[in-house]
Amino acid sequence: MESLRELYRIGPGPSSSHSLGVRKACEYYYGIYPKRNHYTVELYGSLSLTGKGHMTDKVIYDYFGREKTDVVFMKEMTPVPNTMRFYCDGRQNEMEIYSVGGGAIAVKGLPPLADPDVYPENSLTEIVQVCQENNWSFAQYVYEREPDIKEHLRTVKNQMVAVIKEGLTQDGYLPGNLHLEKVAGKIYRQSQNAGPEVADRLLVSSYAYAAMEQSSSGKTVVTAPTLGSSGIVSALAMYYTVKGIPEERILEGLAVAGIVGNVVKKNASISGAVGGCQAEIGTACAMGAAMASHVEGLSNSQIEYAAEVAMEHNLGLTCDPVGGYVQIPCIERNGVAVLRSLDAMEYAKYIGSFKQNRVSFDMVVSVMKHTGKKIPVEFRETSLGGLAIEVMLNEEKKKHAAD
Ligand code: SF4
Repeated sequence: MESLRELYRIGPGPSSSHSLGVRKACEYYYGIYPKRNHYTVELYGSLSLTGKGHMTDKVIYDYFGREKTDVVFMKEMTPVPNTMRFYCDGRQNEMEIYSVGGGAIAVKGLPPLADPDVYPENSLTEIVQVCQENNWSFAQYVYEREPDIKEHLRTVKNQMVAVIKEGLTQDGYLPGNLHLEKVAGKIYRQSQNAGPEVADRLLVSSYAYAAMEQSSSGKTVVTAPTLGSSGIVSALAMYYTVKGIPEERILEGLAVAGIVGNVVKKNASISGAVGGCQAEIGTACAMGAAMASHVEGLSNSQIEYAAEVAMEHNLGLTCDPVGGYVQIPCIERNGVAVLRSLDAMEYAKYIGSFKQNRVSFDMVVSVMKHTGKKIPVEFRETSLGGLAIEVMLNEEKKKHAAD
């Protein structure tokens, strides 16, 4: 498996595959064909269908310069979901680049661009076994395999906290024509006046909203494992910081969450265009459950239990962003999912102490992969089905009734 640096990336929102990965593709192409008079980028599949809402065209124009760039939305699907074709100076120097999720890219005909794998283990079963042999916690395992990762995790944690702090102070509306109000600050204030039974749940939800509202506004955020699902782990980093948990323990929690995300990335997918929202929110929810479980001092087997529960009960979750924006259902979904991460941790803590889990994390990842293949393309980040259609139809109806 790759370094956690490839999982936790810092970059502009709102989408790791549609903005961060696209910018990386531009950088790659420009690195080979710099200073040309004109660039053309054709977008296919999900990038074409939801690229406007995801600010994909803006990222490309900003990178090459609007006056010397054409972005063409090609209304056709390609075998690889997020495909871009780059040209310069007319139709010269064609290159096909794929945004493969979490801000990573692949280039047609070339071996993977990421650094060679730094983790010899490729599944959680293998990781558990190595940990048993060496008497390591999952966090120790990460630090053994990647001795220099801690500073990166610290940078990631600090960025997550900074994004949320700023997000809580914002009001007004999110970019785009959904006219969606920013409400993180309101939820936060509600948490301060709520009774003890809901105060913390509202608090952690407000953090998830703040992270997502900043991401949807194009601010610099952290993939965890993607930007559309970045509110969950970010919210927990903030929550445990505010609760006075020592920084070292929070960094360990990020490390543990990281190997959970890495296992999914290696064996299935973290891209909504490939596997639906289960691949993004399901993975982030499992990462959050693992992080919370580590912070709470649970054992490796309980951490696996929590991650498995969190992923299992997101199976089949579809991706149908309204208007192509990473806003509805995405922002609220992060808020709900971070609570589910904490619920999964509680299940692992109490039920996992006496009940053996029959479903391993690797099993549920395999099921997620195969379920993703069966999810129709309308529900894989194309905005051609589900809420994306229903909400727009309803808006149309309301408009007609008012006319
Ligand atoms: S529905 Fe889920 S996968 Fe799709 S854009 Fe929103 S958060 Fe990402």
